Amino acid sequence: MYDVIIVGGGAAGLAAALTLGRSRRRTLVLDAGEGRNAPAAAVHNFLTRDGTTPAELRRVARADLAAYPEVEVRYAAVADVRRTAEGAYRVTQAGGAATDGRRLLLATGVVDELPDVPGLAPLWGRSVLHCPYCHGFEVSGRRVAVLGAGPGHVRLALHLLNFTPDVALATGAAPLPDGQRDVLAAHGVAVRCEPVARLEGAGTRLERICFEGGEPLPRDALFAGGVLRERSGLPEKLGCALLPDGLVEVDEFGRTSVPGVYAAGDMAHRATVPMPVAAVVAAAAAGTVAGAAADQDLLSEDYGLPNPFPATAAAAAAPAG
Ligand SMILES: Cc1cc2nc3c(=O)[nH]c(=O)nc-3n(C[C@H](O)[C@H](O)[C@H](O)COP(=O)(O)OP(=O)(O)OC[C@H]3O[C@@H](n4cnc5c(N)ncnc54)[C@H](O)[C@@H]3O)c2cc1C
Repeated sequence: MYDVIIVGGGAAGLAAALTLGRSRRRTLVLDAGEGRNAPAAAVHNFLTRDGTTPAELRRVARADLAAYPEVEVRYAAVADVRRTAEGAYRVTQAGGAATDGRRLLLATGVVDELPDVPGLAPLWGRSVLHCPYCHGFEVSGRRVAVLGAGPGHVRLALHLLNFTPDVALATGAAPLPDGQRDVLAAHGVAVRCEPVARLEGAGTRLERICFEGGEPLPRDALFAGGVLRERSGLPEKLGCALLPDGLVEVDEFGRTSVPGVYAAGDMAHRATVPMPVAAVVAAAAAGTVAGAAADQDLLSEDYGLPNPFPATAAAAAAPAG
C-alpha cells in the first residue's frame, strides 16, 4: 500500500512527488512519458531552467527524486482506477498490474486537439505555436500570423505586436467580431479572410500559408492553439466533477470533488479561472500544493486531527464516503 499514487510524471506529478518524498510518504509515480510540450525545442518562462529541453527538465526532476527513498517512479500507462471496498484507490496499469494507494493524485496533463489544417501537425511546437508566453519572444521581428476569428484570436494578434510589427490574422473565413477589423487595420494587422487550404514548410519550419484563393502568405510562425482535452480519461472513471471546458475542477489545495483524489497541472483548474494556467512552472507549483495537501490529509487521518484546510466549493460538492 502506497501513501500516494501519482498518475503522470510531468512537471505537476514530479513536483508533487518531490513534496511527498521529502515528507517521507511512500509514493509511486506512474508515467506514460508523453508530455504535452514534447514537440517543443525548449521550455521557456521557467525560472532557472529557461531554454532547457523538455526531456532534460524531466531528467533533472527525476534525478532530484532519486535522493528520496520513499519515491518510486515507473514508466507505465495507467488504464484504470477504482475505489476498493477498504477505501483505497486501486490503480491498474495497461499490462494488468494493480497497485493500491491511500490517496490518488492525478497529473495526467492534456492533449491539444489541433485545427484540421493539412500540413499543420508536423510543424506543431516548432513553428506552429499556441502561447505568447512560451514562444512570443522567439518570434521577435519575424513574420507571424494567428489562425482564427474569435475575440481571443484578435486579442492574440494585437498582443503579438509587442514582438513584431508583421502580424496577420487568418480568419479561416469565419466572421470577425463587430468593429474588430477596424481595430486590427488601425494597428497594421493584415486580415486574410479566405479559407486556409494548407500550410507549407520545410521540416519543422513554416514557410507559407496557402489559401483557397488568393496569394499564399509567407510566414515564419503561426499561432493556432487547439482545444485542450484531458489525456487519460481517469477523472471521469472516478466521477470527478468537470468544468465546462472538460477539465477537472479543483479547489485551492488541488482537491477534486472526490474525497482523497487530487489533481494538478494542465488537466485541472479552479472554477474561478476560465482555463488552466498552462505553464510548466505553474504545473509544478500546483503539484507542490496538491502534494502537501495530500500529506496533510494523511496526517489528519492518522492522528484523528481536523483537516487544516477549509472545505471549498469543489470539496463541499463531494459525495459522502
Ligand atoms: C508545443 C508546446 C510548447 C510549450 N512550451 C511551453 C514553454 O515553453 N513553457 C511553459 O511554461 N509551458 C509550455 N507549454 C505548456 C506545458 O507543456 C504544460 O503547461 C506542462 O507540460 C503541464 O505539465 P503537466 O505535468 O500538467 O502535464 P504534462 O507535462 O503533459 O505531463 C503529463 C504526464 O502524464 C502522463 N500521463 C497521461 N495519462 C497517463 C496515464 N493514463 N498513465 C500514466 N501516465 C499518464 C503523460 O504521459 C505525461 O508524461 C507548452 C505546450 C505546448 C503544447
